[in-house]
Amino acid sequence: MMPYKIDFQDLRHRIEKLGYSKILLQLPEGMKIYATEIADELSDYEVFISANPCYGSCDIEVYPDFLTIQFGHAEIPNIGYPDNIIFVEAFSTKDFKPVAEKFLELCDARRIGIVASVQHVNAVQDVASFFKSRGREVFIGKGDARIRYPGQVLGCNFSAAREVNHEVDCFVFLGTGHFHAVGVSIATGKKTYVLDPYTESVEDVEKIADRIIRQRFGLIVKAEEADRFGIIVSSKIGQRRVRLALALKEMIESTDRKAYMIMTDNVRPENMYYDVDAYVNTACPRLGYDDISRFRKPVLTPIELEIALKFKLWEQYAFDEIVEVDK
Ligand code: SF4
Repeated sequence: MMPYKIDFQDLRHRIEKLGYSKILLQLPEGMKIYATEIADELSDYEVFISANPCYGSCDIEVYPDFLTIQFGHAEIPNIGYPDNIIFVEAFSTKDFKPVAEKFLELCDARRIGIVASVQHVNAVQDVASFFKSRGREVFIGKGDARIRYPGQVLGCNFSAAREVNHEVDCFVFLGTGHFHAVGVSIATGKKTYVLDPYTESVEDVEKIADRIIRQRFGLIVKAEEADRFGIIVSSKIGQRRVRLALALKEMIESTDRKAYMIMTDNVRPENMYYDVDAYVNTACPRLGYDDISRFRKPVLTPIELEIALKFKLWEQYAFDEIVEVDK
């Protein structure tokens, strides 16, 4: 049985309204185990389950005559999606109270910013009320045009945290894993704690953030010597930053170096065997950070390239975030 709240009645209404009989189910890896359960719920339609990876609502799979239903991600408001896709968020039913209680025992910060992954945005208000009932002040940012829910952060967008950064002493991230929280920590410079409702653990990510920054600086130093760059551009609707890639090409060429545009749908380290000394990644920012050991050459973010080429100072280092994509 799925540990998520999905309103199938509402989903049926949405399907009926659009009038499709063929449905393609797109699910993130962690939800694929529930694909057949969802297909059973929708068995009066012709249901196809996509076996392709699905990394986020930046990454859609659409075909003529099919209605794609992407589960587990929230629509990114500033992307111009085609008409034959709908998004169904899958909110976790997990209770955050035990881990929130634990956090208050460990941390005496007065002013707390709350952020969450989309699976847990429904817990943001509950945790906020709980903190307030214990005398703490709470701040929740709305985020920019790439963000659908207050307090929501993506692996490529921490605007909801940056927006309230000047008001808070620390942030809590409601969710699992380190990536989002490390991004918040680097984007804000504030202590950031992961409140994981499954393990009921509270984790300060400062050391992990420091280690990542040191690794990134090592890559920047290596790339300073590079003469030939490959600029990775994604063809995915929500990762496509062609204008940025062209601006980076111009910047590289202005320093008498060579730059080549490499366009792909899925960036796979094993496909990156080009005759270049380093890459710059304009696709999902997580690639360069998460898959660093799988690439044979340094893979920089756009900001890191600017630092390597001396267009920016080391002190201006920031996590790569996607604010808008090409239309
Ligand atoms: S670009 Fe990457 S981090 Fe951003 S929504 Fe897509 S998969 Fe997530």
